[in-house]
Amino acid sequence: METELKRTWSEIDLDCLLYNYHALRERIGENVRFLGVVKADAYGHGAVQVAQTLQEAGADYLAVSSLDEARELRNHGVTMPILILGHTPPEQVGELIRLGITQAVSAEAKAEAYSAEALRRGGTLKIHIKVDTGMSRLGFLCDGEHFEGGVARIAHSCALPGLDAEGIFTHFAVSDEPGEENEAYTRRQFALFCRVIDALAAKGCTFALRHCANSGAVAYYPDTWLDMVRPGILLYGLTEMAEELGLKSVMSLKTSVSTIKTYEPGVTISYGRLFTTQRRTRVGVLPIGYADGFFRTFSNRFRVMTEDGPAPILGRICMDMCMIDLTECPHVGVGSTIEIFGRHNSVNAMARMADTIPYELVCAVSKRVPRLYCRDGKVVGRKLWIEE
Ligand SMILES: *Cc1c(COP(=O)(O)O)cnc(C)c1O
Repeated sequence: METELKRTWSEIDLDCLLYNYHALRERIGENVRFLGVVKADAYGHGAVQVAQTLQEAGADYLAVSSLDEARELRNHGVTMPILILGHTPPEQVGELIRLGITQAVSAEAKAEAYSAEALRRGGTLKIHIKVDTGMSRLGFLCDGEHFEGGVARIAHSCALPGLDAEGIFTHFAVSDEPGEENEAYTRRQFALFCRVIDALAAKGCTFALRHCANSGAVAYYPDTWLDMVRPGILLYGLTEMAEELGLKSVMSLKTSVSTIKTYEPGVTISYGRLFTTQRRTRVGVLPIGYADGFFRTFSNRFRVMTEDGPAPILGRICMDMCMIDLTECPHVGVGSTIEIFGRHNSVNAMARMADTIPYELVCAVSKRVPRLYCRDGKVVGRKLWIEE
């Protein structure tokens, strides 16, 4: 694709995003609602553009991690329901109500503080109750000896004035990991969640939206889908689960060759002199480094993709640049486009090499890197953090 941005940029293929959305929608069927997780700037893809695309496509709900993230979406014409998964200080309840944002509630004390503030403002705050079934992060503790007390605290929270308890949810710790033990753990989390819901129903406390399925559960546990699913990473087409489901990776990270020089054998390249040329070597400099999100751990071992195939990184990746071996890539010249990851270099494989998960690699693409939004092979939008 033609672009006037010749340093380093990220392409976000909205056709792939829509493809993944429709494929997942088809998978869950008509009776299950779809919440798209767009926290952390939609895993680095750009929350506004992803949310607008999902809204247009007919998704039911969005989730973000904070009020700041929710406000950004409202400021850009996103009118659909938004759930804040993380904490919001009670002083900001007025803004939650004004913007029509749903807040997760993870403890009785928070419910009481939210209720008091909503009453003071004369409004009603929509909430989803968060149950801790084994993630041990946020949520009402309901396991073992905490069961009766936890259920009572949830029931009390839901009955508080100024709160409208629309939903209840929990989060799985290992739904995306194979193996019997992980499956047993996930089953146990789900069974506990169901028992909590039943015990609340027996007290007359019911919820329109019961949800727990993250991407792992969307892929592997159809019986946990309940009223709504909550995939994040599958939407972006990443992880082996996405490969198994035939989804398409949405983001590519690209750069272009800025300089080429040929060195004699015995020359050391970059900081630390990690790499020594063994032959006459045609070396390209790429204007991308760890400040762009291209981790230093890929130094001297990763291969970027050129029009002539893979080209190895030579030596250390610097803050703003890195060097590649173009000896076997005769057609690559100054200005040629290079793919760091994307269609030809999978983020999943790259994450395995760095001993991390693809989530971290796409979230790490820094704000210095402009995002280009593409549809039908054309650029339809751009997001630049650094003003022109
Ligand atoms: C991040 C998150 C998700 C999405 O997780 P994926 O693994 O990306 O599907 C769902 N629910 C909660 C509560 C989350 O924090």
